[in-house]
Amino acid sequence: MIYDFHTHTYLSDGVLSPMELIRTAHVQDYGVIAVTDHVGLEDQERIIKTLLGECRRASEAWGIVALAGVEITHVPKSLIGEAAQRARDFGAQIVLVHGETIVEPVEPGSNLAALSSPYVDILAHPGLITEDEASLAAEMGIFLEISTRRGHSLTNGHVAKVGLDGGARLLLDSDAHRPEDLLTEKLISMVARGAGLTGPEEATLLESNPPALLERRGLTAQPR
Ligand SMILES: [Zn+2]
Ligand SMILES: [Zn+2]
Repeated sequence: MIYDFHTHTYLSDGVLSPMELIRTAHVQDYGVIAVTDHVGLEDQERIIKTLLGECRRASEAWGIVALAGVEITHVPKSLIGEAAQRARDFGAQIVLVHGETIVEPVEPGSNLAALSSPYVDILAHPGLITEDEASLAAEMGIFLEISTRRGHSLTNGHVAKVGLDGGARLLLDSDAHRPEDLLTEKLISMVARGAGLTGPEEATLLESNPPALLERRGLTAQPR
């Protein structure tokens, strides 16, 4: 069963509707998908409301666990904590922050701001994350992301090493914007190994950590 906690629809810069994305994932052996469109401060309410409704209907119809989330993206670092709290208040089930990927001019300090918020679940593509940031992620219970997305994936090896050394937990996500970006078992395994993970580390990444995230949020992998 595939878990993927980072995907986009046409509510931000993806190409599929929420239902198209969830349906496509469902027929590709996904058990759990979080739909996490890019948001800032002012567009969150509309996007979260739409995703909550679509995800609930898709889950009820098809048995896949579809979760309504957000990716707080290029929000000034001084506002990231407030944005994450607002997302939670509006009912977001999974809150990601767009981390300091090396392929975009993300404001330095964004990783630290995200890792300081109790409302954040996953720091996406954290780029050249530091040892102190990894330790903070461990302390806060925030997951660090290994990405299959081109560009963001350039630092997977660094994120895996520094993250695990700091005691943080890792997750592997697609950051899908198009249907062909969705995960397959083969891609997951290759990218995990390409990040330098050992067999036991890969098993923890793929089998233990996704349910741990769901449990942290009071969610389950059982269809509604
Ligand atoms: Zn991102
Ligand atoms: Zn993304």
